[in-house]
Amino acid sequence: MVESIGAPGSQASLREANSVRIIEAVRLYGKITQVELASVTGLSPATVSNIVRRLQASGTVTTEATVRSGRRAQLVTLARREGLAAGAHIGRRAMEVHLVDSGLGEAARQHLPLPPDHRDDTTLDRAAMLVTELVEGLGADLDDVLGVGVALLPAASSGWRDVDVADVLGRRLGRPVVTAPATEAAAVAELRLGELRGASCGLYVSAGEDTDSCLMLGGTVHRGAGLPVAGIGHMRVAPAGAFCRCGARGCLNTVVSAEALADPLRISHGRLQLRDIIAAAVTGDRGCQQVIADAGAAIGGAVADVATMLAPDRIAIGGPLADAGEAFFRPIRDALRSRPLLQDPDLTLVAGRLGPAAAALGVAGLALDAAGAAKALEG
Ligand SMILES: [Zn+2]
Repeated sequence: MVESIGAPGSQASLREANSVRIIEAVRLYGKITQVELASVTGLSPATVSNIVRRLQASGTVTTEATVRSGRRAQLVTLARREGLAAGAHIGRRAMEVHLVDSGLGEAARQHLPLPPDHRDDTTLDRAAMLVTELVEGLGADLDDVLGVGVALLPAASSGWRDVDVADVLGRRLGRPVVTAPATEAAAVAELRLGELRGASCGLYVSAGEDTDSCLMLGGTVHRGAGLPVAGIGHMRVAPAGAFCRCGARGCLNTVVSAEALADPLRISHGRLQLRDIIAAAVTGDRGCQQVIADAGAAIGGAVADVATMLAPDRIAIGGPLADAGEAFFRPIRDALRSRPLLQDPDLTLVAGRLGPAAAALGVAGLALDAAGAAKALEG
């Protein structure tokens, strides 16, 4: 008989605490029958059976039939979450590296500021070093890493156009590496772990130095056919406006960008970085709030056009500008409300839930997908 590990909760309202008690017991004993669980937790066999059924449905535990003392019994184990995956998000000024288990549960993370215009070779060296350090910090080995994902800026804005990141990092780490655009990776994370869960047509918008977007249809990324999907940042919003780095004229990215937000503030506020403008807006600076509201109105107009065409059920907005709160979100909401065709109460606009971790977590998920697909091909 295993030892009791605590007194039972006595009311149905303690179900949550009882679930935790059961998970702890399963973790402690590795494999344990439901009868033994009742014994160590002090819960009734019926309560244990109910909770195990719910934990099984949510994928937290698995059960298998066994025989104990000549009687049939249900053996409960934690769902297998073996192996790790790493996700690195390499941005303009910082790198986020996350290690996750195979259920996308976070195991470790690290944030590293990067110099402006960082070079691909030194940055990929650092990424390899960080992944190795995080893995070793967990007492694990690179062999335990099923795959590595790298979320990248669009090639046109990173200057890494000719670098095969998967090949370079794959050789340095000796692990399979996949890459994805950062916005797509962040959208995948919001789909699996965050605000786009359950959306049948979800639009993810990333708003910061650039504006970008990713459409999720029926739980998968819409990548288009042939040409890559350029995203909302290259929708034409100012036909007579400035030329965009993509070569077209008047893209949303020429109207909303770090420089476009900083320019009207130069005389009054001096030279500001995007993060300074956001921080000042949050603490009540009227000028910074206004340029952010203007950015929200421009993005909101483009989002409303996309929504009119595609009828999403959920729109999630992430990226640094989402941290500016209502100054940014109100004009977007107003832009949606101003369209008579978008008066669907089921259409929701939310801030992304995963913040700066989104792209690293999402690309770790894509690395796990690739590892699973490779395994399926082998098997
Ligand atoms: Zn453009």
